[in-house]
Amino acid sequence: MILPTGSELRRWDLEHLWHPFTQMTEYAASDPLMVVAGEGNELIDDRGQRYLDATSALWCNLLGHRVSEIDEAVRAQLDRIAHSTLLGATHSSAAELARRLAEIAPAGLTHVFFSDDGATAIEAALKIAFQYRLLTKGAAAAEKAVYLSLENGYHGDTLGAAAVGGVALFHETFRPILLPTLKAASPYCYRCPLGLERPSCALACAGTVEEILEREDGRVCAVLVEPGVQAAAGMLVLPEGFLPRVAAACRRHGALLVADEVATGFGRTGSLFACTAEGVVPDLMCVAKGLTGGYLPIAATLATDEIYRTFLGRYDEYRHFFHGHTYTGNPLGCAAALATLRLLADGRLIADVPRKAALLADALLPLAIHRNVGEIRQAGLMCGIELVKDRVTKTGFAPAERVGHRVCLEMRRQRVYIRPLGDVIVIVLPLTVRDDEIQRVADALSAALSEVFGG
Ligand SMILES: *Cc1c(COP(=O)(O)O)cnc(C)c1O
Repeated sequence: MILPTGSELRRWDLEHLWHPFTQMTEYAASDPLMVVAGEGNELIDDRGQRYLDATSALWCNLLGHRVSEIDEAVRAQLDRIAHSTLLGATHSSAAELARRLAEIAPAGLTHVFFSDDGATAIEAALKIAFQYRLLTKGAAAAEKAVYLSLENGYHGDTLGAAAVGGVALFHETFRPILLPTLKAASPYCYRCPLGLERPSCALACAGTVEEILEREDGRVCAVLVEPGVQAAAGMLVLPEGFLPRVAAACRRHGALLVADEVATGFGRTGSLFACTAEGVVPDLMCVAKGLTGGYLPIAATLATDEIYRTFLGRYDEYRHFFHGHTYTGNPLGCAAALATLRLLADGRLIADVPRKAALLADALLPLAIHRNVGEIRQAGLMCGIELVKDRVTKTGFAPAERVGHRVCLEMRRQRVYIRPLGDVIVIVLPLTVRDDEIQRVADALSAALSEVFGG
């Protein structure tokens, strides 16, 4: 077999590969990173350069690359079977993973519906919530059912998930073809949509959730929230007390609470799930990104026993959940997930997250006074640095200036790989990040800011 050369591969990439969320005109001109390998927390490109992966492969890698325990688990599964269906049949790795997830999930979430990505886990949750409403309240009530979610929320890109999303940049283009949904205020304290300040605001944003539930008088079948942090909107850290208030309002008004733990699940913010840190147990919980350590696309929607039982009955009552994908619960992914959960099981890696998070906060502290740094937000190993043109007025840069993009390109020259969200520099570190690597990220960002904005 003759292997293609690096320059051939780069040409083929530009000629044939259409990249997600990427302006291909800009991409073609940008000398894109071509990864050929990974080791530890680093990516290795086709020229042999190493980059610290400070995006964690877009927030899914949890324990670094080529983790021997996960590699071996996938290989062992490959020696048994690569894929087998869950439609009316099962396989050993899915059964074991379902039990394991039920064991570690917030109490009461005892049933696991597998899918493939964050968006598909959300689609399953949306349809479960709707069919649950239909089964418990009847067709007339179900016809009026509506979803409530937050401005600045992000739940994936399929049409259902986008309909409950609230990031204008991602979703506005498709608004005409999205299901109408209700939106409550985003807990974006740096730019409070209600023009208030903490703590005198008394969490008026949570109040908007309560008001809508009150006003809709039982029509809302599910409320979707990202616990801990609205990640894709630029790492907007939820104020303490927000989630418990939303959860209580859901209970009062008979709406299911869907916790989207796709980005936060499995320790990134310092607890296994962000919702448990605030003592909240949702009715449905979606997990994906970190579940397989970032190895393979497996996602899960966890449900309470009460919801699960509602779908039971004789075949010809047609109460079963009419939903599923071909590769759902793929065995290789399940094996990777089981190995990942074994590595997390003693709790040591997650217990060390607060210490590492404090190191990151300390390392970034000198940047907090930079004239173009508006705010540094952090939840554990997830961090967003919002760049602004003017700190006093919080005025942002024109999108055409590509400030976030330029800072990230400069960081890449410093051998730290990162991808911004607009002008928010996003750092998502693996749980295995070393102390010196944390400093390396901060040093690279500091150098990049000097390069882009001048000393
Ligand atoms: C990434 C993300 C999703 C979508 O996950 P995909 O695997 O990209 O479909 C959903 N919710 C949250 C909170 C996310 O961060």
